[in-house]
Amino acid sequence: MSELIVKKYGGTSVGSIERIESLADRLVKEIKQGQKPVVVVSAMSGETNRLIGLAEKIDPDYRGSAYDMLIASGEQVSISLLAIALQKRGVKAQPLLGFQLGIRTDSTFAKARIQSIDTDPIFDLVGKSVVPVVAGFQGVDEDDNITTLGRGGSDTTAVALAAAIQGRASCDCEIYTDVPAVFTADPRLVSKARELPSLSCEEMMEMAALGSKVLHIRCVEIAAKYGVKIHLRSTFEEREGTWILPDTPDLATASPATSKGSSTMNIQIEQPVVSAVTHDANTAVFKLFPVPTGPDFLARLFDTLAKKGVVVDIITQSETTEGQRLAFSVTKEDIPLSRQALKDFVPNSEHITLIENMAKISVVGVGMRNHPGVAARFFAVLAKTDVPIHLVTTSEIKISAVIEQGKLKEAAEALHSEFGLDKA
Ligand code: ASP
Ligand code: MG
Repeated sequence: MSELIVKKYGGTSVGSIERIESLADRLVKEIKQGQKPVVVVSAMSGETNRLIGLAEKIDPDYRGSAYDMLIASGEQVSISLLAIALQKRGVKAQPLLGFQLGIRTDSTFAKARIQSIDTDPIFDLVGKSVVPVVAGFQGVDEDDNITTLGRGGSDTTAVALAAAIQGRASCDCEIYTDVPAVFTADPRLVSKARELPSLSCEEMMEMAALGSKVLHIRCVEIAAKYGVKIHLRSTFEEREGTWILPDTPDLATASPATSKGSSTMNIQIEQPVVSAVTHDANTAVFKLFPVPTGPDFLARLFDTLAKKGVVVDIITQSETTEGQRLAFSVTKEDIPLSRQALKDFVPNSEHITLIENMAKISVVGVGMRNHPGVAARFFAVLAKTDVPIHLVTTSEIKISAVIEQGKLKEAAEALHSEFGLDKA
């Protein structure tokens, strides 16, 4: 057991007074068993959305210090209630806002990045047997403004705190949520999806970037950088979930005797080629033809898109005798901004085709590095299931294709079984 353990609870875990009381019961039980928890919580479920809704009623476009001050307040409520529940059970607890812990961030309101954390208050409290109950999602900038870390940012608070604590004591990080584990595919889409006992940070980062919403991507980046082990598990069940590990487990040195019977970490001995199938149904594709040839056009077009804040995902381009053929994908939210940007570049609207109901399907796995032929199998499966491909992209550990949304389920199921991921 690590000396300290950061335990993060999401909105559903503190979604009502009953849930807060039962969370307190569980924490008290674990403390009696010898655990030294540093608790991080999100706002009660729905609360951050409610607060954002209030601000948007007044001015939907406002962003700035008042916005962050407002939306950070949900966590102030949940940490206080949990601390009261712990005190009622005879456990000393101290609720802490971001500024009280010196969670210093930059001043990018609504998307701030953590720069440093002062762990002295944590060690002082733990030394006096007081449980720190930390507000997730918030920090403070140089000018003492309250900042927030972006939606889902409490995960990032938890992992950053564990990373900071690790400098002085061993510390794991448990993230409790309403799903019991990371799955080989979204179980709502692929009924044969299985739970993964472990996966690498690298795979988890790809999966988060490709549409899996189980963890805030920035928390996985921090875990990878500082070597924090994340255990993602269910608030409502006692069993193990998925370990997200900083490095691919070293198979040469991992002794089966230690990894096999271990109650804390279940390492997969045989690395599968593909670890998971992920998808993002929120994709749209712009196809442009013909547009002026040459890289200058591309440079100006993508610069304009970037300046409007459009995140372009996959791009394909080819030159033909009639001009340049270009296609790129964006998320659905970015369609209006993309249209605006394109207006000046491609005046003839007949040269622009927008396909809205698209989805991105991907296979991810560090095992791909050592196994040739994954792309061939990927395309063969899509061909066999009669799924037309609009765009493709690959990296060392993933292959993604943009397909029609109507074909998503079929494609996901076929890929899942092709790569041996189906549960028995
Ligand atoms: N309460 C914040 C949100 O809803 C942070 C979090 O839940 O992680 O985005
Ligand atoms: Mg979350």
